[in-house]
Amino acid sequence: MKIYKKTIEKESRSQIEFIDITTAVDEAVKGSKIENGQVLVFSGHTTAGIAINENESLLLQDLQRMLYRLVPIDERYSHDLFELKRMNRSDGRSNGHSHCKNMLIGNSETVPIEKGKMLLGSLQSIFFVEMDGARKRSIIVQIMGE
Ligand code: ZN
Repeated sequence: MKIYKKTIEKESRSQIEFIDITTAVDEAVKGSKIENGQVLVFSGHTTAGIAINENESLLLQDLQRMLYRLVPIDERYSHDLFELKRMNRSDGRSNGHSHCKNMLIGNSETVPIEKGKMLLGSLQSIFFVEMDGARKRSIIVQIMGE
């Protein structure tokens, strides 16, 4: 069995953003020369995750609104307390809502690979989901198989 790793760098432009990374993951799969196995797409961040869904611009607006509705910014989040920043126990951003949103999205997705291709459904795309933008991010792609 072979294991191949590639890191994808992305820069988000807004607070919540769905960034389609399917093409970049596909290139990593091709670069790995692995014919059968699976690809893990992993976000090593606490306020940005990975999700699979349809890349349809109105749907992406719906998903964005869903995240704001389920986890409103104007709620009270203990993580945002000024004291935490003073005590160096916070990451310095009022992003309690972003951490909570990330719990809904999750940090990784796994896609099977057959004959060198990802077995994504015809309407499926892989998204990097920013929830505390704008900032620079990296995504780990690990391909396992033979
Ligand atoms: Zn934080």
